[in-house]
Amino acid sequence: MKNHPFSRRDFLRVSSLGVGAFALGETLMSFSPKDGKKLGIALVGLGYYSYGQLGPALLHTKNCYLAGIVTGHPAKAEAWKKQYNIPDKNIYNYETFDKIKDNPDIDIIYVVLPVSMHKEYTIRAAQAGKHVICEKPMALNAKECEEMITACKKANRLLSIGYRLHFEPHNMEIMRLGQKQVYGKVTAIDTGNGFVYGGTDNSAWRLKKAMAGGGGLMDMGIYSIQGSRYTLGQEPVAVKARQEKTRPEFFNEVDETVYWELEFPGGFVATGKSSYNHNWGYLHVEAEKGKFGLEPAYGYGSVEGYTPAGPMHIPQVIHQAMQMDDFAECVRQNKRSRVPGEEGLKDMKVVDAIYRSLDSGKKEKIV
Ligand code: NAD
Repeated sequence: MKNHPFSRRDFLRVSSLGVGAFALGETLMSFSPKDGKKLGIALVGLGYYSYGQLGPALLHTKNCYLAGIVTGHPAKAEAWKKQYNIPDKNIYNYETFDKIKDNPDIDIIYVVLPVSMHKEYTIRAAQAGKHVICEKPMALNAKECEEMITACKKANRLLSIGYRLHFEPHNMEIMRLGQKQVYGKVTAIDTGNGFVYGGTDNSAWRLKKAMAGGGGLMDMGIYSIQGSRYTLGQEPVAVKARQEKTRPEFFNEVDETVYWELEFPGGFVATGKSSYNHNWGYLHVEAEKGKFGLEPAYGYGSVEGYTPAGPMHIPQVIHQAMQMDDFAECVRQNKRSRVPGEEGLKDMKVVDAIYRSLDSGKKEKIV
């Protein structure tokens, strides 16, 4: 389907090798949409993430299945229709999108579009009476996140963010070790996430401020921010950041590499970084009784962890399948997701403060 001129795909493919059964070419025969049990998901935007991860993951879900698609490309619609056995009545484009409200096959709309489109499609999905998963970063800024949360509440629909690592057992173990102080109080956190953005064409939406909101910080740094927050189980209060650009002509609209110090209540400071110029993906934690952490920490598969007791021996899972199954169960039970819109909002408040700090050169409060 879509070819990406940069090396992100290669980077993520390497980090996905642990999930061997997760073949892209599979044909969907394993569900029975009429069995009344699985909820129907419609993916909006059939780019890299839908094609490479979410579609294939929906071959492995127990509580939901790929019921529909929204795409502006008729050729993509045709290919997905064949591969996933999607009926014509469940295929939409951006003009017909709102008609989804009349389609009982679709319970959940998953917004997998450029960041600048997250707010609009989340709100329209909720107004169409559907529950919503919106990809990360949740929106261009915290204000947009608040509008999305309000709209979903008003429509009485559940909203969840595509934070797959909250369903990934190594990351969940880190939450437990840090938050329950299994090795005593956490004394240091250092985390980084990034990849080398290759090529010379910087016309892609990810490098346009109006569409992406920012660069490596918005795309990759959100994981480092999350990692610090869920290790401690606390909310940061202030941040001081600086940035580095080795290719200013290429990253002329968005950030390339950003470093920050994230301050938590009581004065604890976690260091973090994000990049479109370094292959990073780790979360290192020091506690009173030893060190624990993850490396690779945030990729799609093959997450590896260590503790003072030795390596974590935890099976690899398909993050997205776990994440979507959990949300489908939340919808069934009318229960708030463990990664609701408010979780995306918290991260975007940190991101906003980091950008303010880059502008001011000073420590900025997270408000
Ligand atoms: P992509 O560029 O490959 O796909 C974007 C899709 O949006 C394409 O199908 C494109 O046709 C469609 N689109 C519709 N209107 C568009 C417009 N005006 N301009 C550009 N594209 C338009 O991007 P992607 O990598 O699939 O990312 C989509 C979302 O998924 C982003 O929010 C990204 O951050 C997120 N994502 C999340 C993860 C994760 O691990 N959770 C991984 C990758 C991407």
